[in-house]
Amino acid sequence: MSYQVLARKWRPKSFADLVGQESTVQALSNALDQNRLHHAYLFNGTRGIGKTTLARILAKSLNCEKGTSSKPCQECNTCKEIDAGRYVDLIELDAASNTGVDDMRDLLENSQYAPSSGPFKIYIIDEVHMLSKSAFNAMLKTLEEPPEHIKFILATTEPNKVPITILSRCLQFNLKQMSSENITKHLEFILTKEKIKFDLDAINIIAKAASGSMRDALSILDQAIAYNQDKIEVDKINQMLGTISNEILIRLLDAIAKQDGAGLISLTKEMNEKNISFESSLEDLARLIHELSLAKMIPNYFEGSDNKEILNSLEDAFTPENLQLLYQIATLGKRDLYLAPDLLSGFNMALLRMIAFYPSFTNNKKEKTNAVSKNESVANKEPIKSESFVEKKTPEFDGNWRKLVEKLELGMARSLAQESEFHEFKGGTFYLRLQPHHKHLSENTYQEKLEIALSNHFMHKIKVELTIAKVKTSPAIEKKTERADLFKQTEKNIMEDSFVKELINEFDAEVISSSIQPKSTGKEK
Ligand SMILES: [Zn+2]
Repeated sequence: MSYQVLARKWRPKSFADLVGQESTVQALSNALDQNRLHHAYLFNGTRGIGKTTLARILAKSLNCEKGTSSKPCQECNTCKEIDAGRYVDLIELDAASNTGVDDMRDLLENSQYAPSSGPFKIYIIDEVHMLSKSAFNAMLKTLEEPPEHIKFILATTEPNKVPITILSRCLQFNLKQMSSENITKHLEFILTKEKIKFDLDAINIIAKAASGSMRDALSILDQAIAYNQDKIEVDKINQMLGTISNEILIRLLDAIAKQDGAGLISLTKEMNEKNISFESSLEDLARLIHELSLAKMIPNYFEGSDNKEILNSLEDAFTPENLQLLYQIATLGKRDLYLAPDLLSGFNMALLRMIAFYPSFTNNKKEKTNAVSKNESVANKEPIKSESFVEKKTPEFDGNWRKLVEKLELGMARSLAQESEFHEFKGGTFYLRLQPHHKHLSENTYQEKLEIALSNHFMHKIKVELTIAKVKTSPAIEKKTERADLFKQTEKNIMEDSFVKELINEFDAEVISSSIQPKSTGKEK
């Protein structure tokens, strides 16, 4: 038996089978069931999201022998013939290859005659924006005085190129780009039905690579089935697509956070040997940095993710400013990749630039501290090194750890200070607690930096004792809660805004929560 490509084999046959276009399906179903039919429909949206599939389902719904409804029977001759692509009263034209007025005239010449079997003669015109001006004019004539038995279903990726005279006579539907979650779900469904084993992570990679196009996702899956003999696995998919695994991305960012240039270069060498595309790696790196930035704004952003803990600790390793800079270097690095002597050096340079610029925030602060302490030492105050502080009368601390942390010049140790819960201050030692998943912050270098900052602040030799334990609160937790409250309040204000309400009611608008950004309070540090 010959292999039938998945996109054809699993093409949705009913509205219920369509993935990710709920609002369009709802509107069309209501219109069909209430017999509110229009002469012309226009579906717009990017390629591969199901415009012509939707058009064919609509055609069945209109002409099914059991009557017009949103649930065509799928069994009558009409339904079957439409599925098989040989129904006489359904005329499909691809405007990309038939742009001229003659094609359109031929098409419309027969429109005056009644359909041969069903109630409607249905014209599906794909990529309608490609028609010539005179072809549009020919179509407009029919649209201005359409015979009762004619229905036009137009599809386009570029509605802005369709003349307004045509647009205004169509009922328009904006098809949504498919979310990678929806694509993943659908691929899972198909693979289960096809009895093909798979790793969920491998399917996620395919869904992301398809960038919102179900058709592309299915054709990648076709290749994957041919390429993977027994099971669809992450490594094989990465190899096939030349994509980079999340694990390598995380290792890259971790090396940047640790300023580990040698580690970074050995990783890129490994990537080169595996033929991983450097261009898409920079793109994926920018995507991950973007997610880390979102995690700074949206509480529990990585909840449910496989790598939740490691992503949370990466988020802690960078400040929002770091992430902005890294993002810019990744995107510009991708732009300039082909100007480099070769792709590997271009990629290496982009990553080394991240290391070169990453400490600029932290080091500048340190220099500033040095400068201040120099001035201070002129005024007979103690120099910066904690070792050199002499014991004086024990310094006083009011217990407000968060306020203290905000005053400290911490650099890379800021994450440690912010994630720590203050327990006790006794005999010149700060006893702090740190959540088990922040254990990596207890590294000596961070702790030493924190001790130096505290010693500088109190002008007294201060020690830090860390315990790994469950933490109730910390400056970071407090800030996150405040941000979450602010976010909730902002979202509430937006939803209660009369203009927004009007947009929702009148234009079927939707508030995208991820785009809501509370105004900075100015207190953040
Ligand atoms: Zn039927």
